[in-house]
Parts: sequence; structure tokens; C-alpha cells
Amino acid sequence: MKIALFPGSFDPITLGHLDIVRRAKPLFDEIVIAVGENEQKKYLFSMEQRVEWLQRVFEDEPQMKVMQYKGLTVNFAKDLGANYLLRGLRNASDFDYEKTISQLNNIIGEGLETVFLISHPEMSHISSTIVREIIKGKGDVSAFVPEIIHNDLKNKFYL
Ligand code: ADP
Repeated sequence: MKIALFPGSFDPITLGHLDIVRRAKPLFDEIVIAVGENEQKKYLFSMEQRVEWLQRVFEDEPQMKVMQYKGLTVNFAKDLGANYLLRGLRNASDFDYEKTISQLNNIIGEGLETVFLISHPEMSHISSTIVREIIKGKGDVSAFVPEIIHNDLKNKFYL
């Protein structure tokens, strides 16, 4: 069984993340989308909120599992029995960063392979960082996030 782990912050999940998942589906039997807890990072949304949004986005998709984890991504992949990591690449700075991490993960993860999908041109400007900035400024993020998240932001938060 081919299991891929798609690790990230998903703070919040965007249409860019969704596009990567959609295109990766034919490649794997199961995709685990997992929110990593990194002590160094400051998040806008709580772990609970980020996980809940992912669960709602993927609730009707049996091929997808939503989880959270702490510690090294390679260790979590091993626990899951995942032989592949899935990551998206938007530009050269994504590539520079991801290249080193993937080489390291391949060594410490004993052959763990990272599969990269290049973002669609119409998605390559979308990042959680930009979405967070727009939310903080009370702007409209409907063009960048799944509809249920936009609706939640309108109702529970400050759009
Ligand atoms: P991290 O903090 O691990 O970078 P993110 O949630 O920001 O977590 O991103 C998770 C993955 O999704 C990364 O591989 C990132 O490159 C990818 N990604 C994010 N936005 C896009 C996008 N618009 N198009 C393609 N890939 C994307």
C-alpha cells in the first residue's frame, strides 16, 4: 500500500494545498495530511482549529486521513508506514529550502522519498502567510481558501 504523508502547518489550509492533494491522489492509496507542531513557529490559528478545518475539508474522502504530530516528520512517517512525503513547490525559494530538507530526510528516514508537485500557475501566488496577513487586516480571502473556511472566518472571526 502506497502511503504519502503531506506534512505542513496549514495555518490555514489554502486552495494551493488542496490543489496539491487533488493532483497527488492518483499517485497514492492513502494520503495522510498532518499538522506538525513546531515550537519555534508562531501560529495564527490553534492546532485544534487547523485540524478541524482539515477534517471538514476532507470528510467525504476515504483516501485522506487528517492527523497531527510532534517531533521529526521522518519519525512520524515511519510510525504511519508512509514511504513518501508529499510537498508542493511554488518557486525557487521553495525549491532551495525543500531540496536540503528532502536530502536530509532521505538519509535519516532510511530511504524516505519526497515527491514534489509544482504548483499550478494560478495557485503559485497563494500562501498561508499571505492569507494570514489578509485575515489580520480584515480583508476578503475567499479567492484563496476553501469555502467552508471563508464562511467560518465570516461567522466566527473577523471578516
Ligand atoms: P510548512 O510550514 O511546512 O511550509 P505549509 O502549510 O506552509 O507548511 O505548506 C505545506 C506544503 O504545501 C509545502 O510543501 C508548501 O510548499 C505547499 N504549498 C503551500 N502553498 C502552496 C501553493 N499555493 N501551491 C503549491 N504548494 C503549496
